[in-house]
Amino acid sequence: MNDNPCTQIRHDFPIFEVSVDDQPLCYLDSAATTQKPNQVIQAVKDFYQSQNANVHRGLHTLSEQATTAYEAVRRKLAQFLNVQSREIVWTSGATASLNLIAYGLSDSLKKDDVILLSPLEHHANIVPWQLAAKRTGARIELLPVDAQGILQLEQAKALIENLKPKVMSICHASNALGNINDVAALIASSKSSGTVTVIDGAQSLLHLRPDLQQLDCDFYVFSAHKALGPTGLGGLYGRYELLNALPVYQSGGEMIDTVSFSGTTFRPAPEKFEPGTPNIAGVIGFGAALDYLAAQDHDALFQHEQSLYQSLLQQLSGIDGIRIWGDTANNVGTVSFNYKNEHHYDLATLLNTHGIAVRSGHHCTQPLMAHLGIEGTIRASLAFYNNQQDISRFIAALKDTISLLEE
Ligand code: PMP
Repeated sequence: MNDNPCTQIRHDFPIFEVSVDDQPLCYLDSAATTQKPNQVIQAVKDFYQSQNANVHRGLHTLSEQATTAYEAVRRKLAQFLNVQSREIVWTSGATASLNLIAYGLSDSLKKDDVILLSPLEHHANIVPWQLAAKRTGARIELLPVDAQGILQLEQAKALIENLKPKVMSICHASNALGNINDVAALIASSKSSGTVTVIDGAQSLLHLRPDLQQLDCDFYVFSAHKALGPTGLGGLYGRYELLNALPVYQSGGEMIDTVSFSGTTFRPAPEKFEPGTPNIAGVIGFGAALDYLAAQDHDALFQHEQSLYQSLLQQLSGIDGIRIWGDTANNVGTVSFNYKNEHHYDLATLLNTHGIAVRSGHHCTQPLMAHLGIEGTIRASLAFYNNQQDISRFIAALKDTISLLEE
């Protein structure tokens, strides 16, 4: 895909018409959150303007329409992921999904059971498991990752067979480095041990569009805002028998069958995990994001991202003193780097004066940064709406920043 279809796509994203600090925006922070196409913004606006009502509650027309639209998105997402719609639970995001799963699986964990994670994980895929371990006496073990931040697949498979973990929860793609992990191979290795497999898909839903039946994981979590959708919404897929067997996490209205002071009975999944009024407008907006994605040629978009990524890598590696981390051969288009011993914060602040939006810091992966022996990195993360001009502007600004720092 050349830059022409990309130019077309960029017109769908109104933020690129906005000036930030009097400069056109150069947005290289899509791993934090993606920009939203007009279709998503319009769907949220339309909902509040002409369809707003609560779901699953009223018999009146508007409420029925809202319920139908809301449930249609569950089916749309199920189709997108190639699973059943009753296997999709809406939550407020990947963080909430991981908490729900870690809390729920605690019931089946006991002392010395192994919860297998990796040093690449986001804090959201570490802390809920630490709490689960504390509650149950289970222990956390880590998959091997080398000094560059790359998961060591063969050693990892051997470790899985050896440890026979009760739970394995790993990211499909690292938010800090962009590495794509071969999660299918890890899941396959864990099958003979009956391990419950949880995939953190926060960074993979948009770039990799996984077929979850093919992946064969038990749970998969995501955030809608990292895949063109609104913030405050995410969800999880759970293999139905496992999902339905999980205990209730949060409770209240809508998730019950009957309530009396002698006891309460709960509805089956997914309802039993969705108490209270959900993020209806968010779900409707995400439905528009899924429609938008379905209308695009995914392979072409992925190739476009990858060619921008290669160009970014090549130009960055040509700058003396740049140290790039992670697996550059399997990557969703995120470059994480340092320049000599300069503080990442100083670089990002100076880049911002050129209108460049990148992230700097530990990226909610402090254990990974400790493993790499650094405090943080500068992270430039791409999405299909980026173009070659973004890369050129970023490289020019970086060179300018470096010469300023070297003065
Ligand atoms: N996991 C990964 C890999 C992430 O990148 C993020 C967000 N940075 C999360 C989990 C948490 O997502 P959210 O903040 O949307 O709940």
